[in-house]
Amino acid sequence: MALLQIAEPGQAAAPHQHKLAAGIDLGTTNSLVATVRSAQAETLPDEQGRHLLPSVVHYFADGVDVGYTAREQATRDPLNTIASAKRLIGRAVSDIKSLGKGLPYEFVKTDSRVPRIHTMAGDVSPIEVSAEILKVLARRAEDTLGGELSGVVITVPAYFDDAQRQATKDAARLAGLHVFRLLNEPTAAAVAYGLDRGADGIHAIFDLGGGTFDISILRLNKGVFEVLSTGGDSALGGDDFDQVVAEWIMEQAGIADDADHKVLRQLMLDARKAKEALSDAKSVDLDIAVPGSGRWQGQLNREIFNTLVDPLIRNTISACRRALRDAGVDVEEVQDVVMVGGSTRMPRLREKVGEFFRQPPLVDIDPDRVVALGAAIQADVLAGNKPDNEILLLDVTPLSLGLETMGGLVEKVIPRNTTIPVARAQEFTTFKDGQTAMVVHVVQGEREMAEHCRSLARFELRGIPPMVAGAARIRVTFAVDADGLLDVEAEELSQGVKASVTVKPSYGLSDEEITNMLRASFEHAEEDLEERRLAEARVEGMRVVEALQAALASDGEKLLNPQERRQIETALQELTEAIATSDVDAIDAQAKHVEQVCEFYVERRMNSGIQQAMAGHNINEFE
Ligand code: ADP
Ligand code: MG
Repeated sequence: MALLQIAEPGQAAAPHQHKLAAGIDLGTTNSLVATVRSAQAETLPDEQGRHLLPSVVHYFADGVDVGYTAREQATRDPLNTIASAKRLIGRAVSDIKSLGKGLPYEFVKTDSRVPRIHTMAGDVSPIEVSAEILKVLARRAEDTLGGELSGVVITVPAYFDDAQRQATKDAARLAGLHVFRLLNEPTAAAVAYGLDRGADGIHAIFDLGGGTFDISILRLNKGVFEVLSTGGDSALGGDDFDQVVAEWIMEQAGIADDADHKVLRQLMLDARKAKEALSDAKSVDLDIAVPGSGRWQGQLNREIFNTLVDPLIRNTISACRRALRDAGVDVEEVQDVVMVGGSTRMPRLREKVGEFFRQPPLVDIDPDRVVALGAAIQADVLAGNKPDNEILLLDVTPLSLGLETMGGLVEKVIPRNTTIPVARAQEFTTFKDGQTAMVVHVVQGEREMAEHCRSLARFELRGIPPMVAGAARIRVTFAVDADGLLDVEAEELSQGVKASVTVKPSYGLSDEEITNMLRASFEHAEEDLEERRLAEARVEGMRVVEALQAALASDGEKLLNPQERRQIETALQELTEAIATSDVDAIDAQAKHVEQVCEFYVERRMNSGIQQAMAGHNINEFE
């Protein structure tokens, strides 16, 4: 893993202090929990011996139900039965609008950014739905292991963004779980196969689940996985294979497209059963209820099935080709192809994936369980059960890295949980006319104000050619290398002057501090937002003051009579006083007032041939 090293809190546990830990694969369709016992990772079954837990939550008047029984309610009670919460988690209300058309739920109209679904048990967010699933799995682990879990590792897709990861962690917290770490699903699968212990090289992880397809290209470098690229299709999965089989049956049996909803649902279940059976058998017998005419009996064999599903398989192969291209990797360079997800049991798929990658894919570990097993192995290490492994490897930045900008605000350049190594650049500009130096203050943390984040380094960029405020372009590049070392470089783009500094971001930060900082950012979210608004209003107000003072100094005498000048100075004075208060609205109002009062002056300056507009107008060109 391209990883940041973090020392374990506390010492490695002695054997008799073995800490209980679990890995959780929180899937779109199904979820699982696994743990390491007697040096062996295994998934844990429910009381009836079933390892998978359908990721479905049914809400009713006085409680909730999770798993198989909940899934059975989907047809009867669709509005209160929430499936696929993973598609919604960490998404804003605005994202859901486009996602939500296929979803039967009643979304509550809300001002909050987090969508809520109306159910009989009250309104719930995708975070709460996921928490219910996590609770069931954690309880299963605690019942099996006979004690409380010290922590869990939860897997997420490699492409999950910061908000989706944060929401997943929030779900765990709601479920009363301590999250050691979120782990990328493809990394977990690679760990389950022990690829992290093998030679350095490139691995492809092919994950075809119920509703999604993900292909990830990883590079193992000195025991560390780096995500080179991710691709796939969030709307392609086993369900689509069911669909083509169902369509074939409808044609054979003469069932119309507009048949009753219940008939079509049953048909989808029959189609799925046939598809799954065909992964073992050469052909399956079908006995299908036909509305009006009783039943249709027939057979579906592998040859027909293969022709039906080949177009879907071709789509997955095209995505693999794209992912390799994005990673800048040739197919010959791929050392292993790991198969993940229930749908990779289909022999035709294995054959085609093998043809494309020119090698048989790895299928020894149950594709349903491989992600949970890898997570369990990581959780075991993180719990401190492996004395040899006191140093633990992470593949993401634990906290956001950013810069302090005017007004003490933080501009995040690399959000937390970004896979490393990573490099990101952002452009900044000067605040004052003629500014020739700027201080670059590098901070780490999730809060909006720099004073609440951790200060990592401060350095100066000098030799910026004097320009009007907002005209200079300074590119600041953050790069975190595989060892977790952060390099920050600032460059003035017109003359190419540079300054840089190297810092170690994880230095001295314990897990607990990270947790506290995250908790603080969560608890203070609203307060921070207020503070941010105030700081922004002040910066904007000060920019107006600075620009106007500069203008007055240069041509105030020439262009204004004493009365006009006094009028402008009074407005300026009022704005300066407003900035000193904490009243955001007053600052905004005074700033607007100054602009109005100065309108004629700005116009006169333009007409007088002075091409320097006010800084506030200039800055837009660079954003
Ligand atoms: P997710 O990652 O979306 O939670 P899973 O990895 O559990 O999903 O995969 C579920 C999908 O796997 C379903 O579409 C199911 O039909 C399919 N599947 C399970 N077993 C088989 C099988 N033997 N042959 C073909 N497909 C299968
Ligand atoms: Mg999965």
